[in-house]
Amino acid sequence: MARCRHCGSGRLRMVLSLGTTPLANSNVSEERLSEPEPVFPLELLVCEDCMLAQLDEYEAPDHIFTDYAYFSSWSTTWLEHARAYVEQVSERFALGAASMVVEVASNDGYLLQYFVERGVPVLGVEPAANVAAEAVAKGIPTQVAFLTQASAKRLVAEGYQADLVVGNNVLAHVPALNDFVAALRILLKPAGVITMEFPHLYRLVEETQFDTIYHEHFSYFSLFVVIAVFARHGLAVFDVDRLTTHGGSLRIYACHADKAPYAVSERVGALESLERGAGMATMEYYERFAEEVARVKREVVEFLRSAKREGKRVAGYGAPAKGNTLLNFCGIGRDLVGYTVDRNPHKQGLYTPGMRIPIRDPKVVEEDKPDYLWILPWNIKDEVMEQMAGIRGWGGRFVVAIPRLHIYD
Ligand SMILES: [Zn+2]
Repeated sequence: MARCRHCGSGRLRMVLSLGTTPLANSNVSEERLSEPEPVFPLELLVCEDCMLAQLDEYEAPDHIFTDYAYFSSWSTTWLEHARAYVEQVSERFALGAASMVVEVASNDGYLLQYFVERGVPVLGVEPAANVAAEAVAKGIPTQVAFLTQASAKRLVAEGYQADLVVGNNVLAHVPALNDFVAALRILLKPAGVITMEFPHLYRLVEETQFDTIYHEHFSYFSLFVVIAVFARHGLAVFDVDRLTTHGGSLRIYACHADKAPYAVSERVGALESLERGAGMATMEYYERFAEEVARVKREVVEFLRSAKREGKRVAGYGAPAKGNTLLNFCGIGRDLVGYTVDRNPHKQGLYTPGMRIPIRDPKVVEEDKPDYLWILPWNIKDEVMEQMAGIRGWGGRFVVAIPRLHIYD
């Protein structure tokens, strides 16, 4: 029997089932095509006591993250986001040569490099050894570790207690949520600030972004729930930004609740009211969401089948984790989408998990001239449409499926 990873309640209600699928980041190599893949149920649960939306835990996370193929530096949009963030927080919190910035799940150093440029001392903490090695090669100090209370105590002993603890797209990924948030507090200097970015559950539901639900994302946060999670561990959320990244994210700012070095911004209360007004504290809200998900599935499958009937060819753009939830849930294989392309050379030559769609170099699109290019990472569709604008030369059209099927003229 599953228990809520925040409050421990056994009253978890399943609000959406996306079937039984492989792990979204486990692309398959040519040699392994004849082997079966491990699959796990993908079901969204909501706690009736604290309203945390979550997945049940199914496997030790070290298996997922120790050889991770996602390198943040391959997205120019994301790099610009990181650069702008570093500039903003460095000024707001007066970070300089005497400060320490620790980033949790620091990936290949895509963000910390901008602090290094400004002369701010940093440490990256990254569980995937192959990704951490790329950061170290670029001169970004990085330790291979998961953030736990034990590793946080060790880092503090080594002199890494932080003025700023950054975590982008990691809070949702941690199975041991309480241990992780307690560890953040341990890492934080008395007047320090934590910023965490994560997809906003409000936007996920309002825009039917069900494809961002996959096994590596254990929790789906609204602001009012994350405030409760942080409060349980002596941390106060004092400000929040609404961001456009990943289809709509929150960036929360937290500090020690007992020291409260910062006053709580009115943005916090305003967003909490918006969430409660939308019904996010009620089960009906999540049940309506499941109906919208079924609609998107119908639209996508109908589009692909009719394209096939008309003899049109559809290629995918991108092999993001979110694409795999969509492809597997809708049952879309090579018969409907011949291949997908990705700029990340670590993914090229592999096959998507479950549906086994080949991942190729974007150059293939110019040679093959497909009728439709279906952008799976809809969150960076503007960037992709600019990069791949050449498809319009042969009458190719861009397609996006979320929040609803849209074919661009
Ligand atoms: Zn709960």
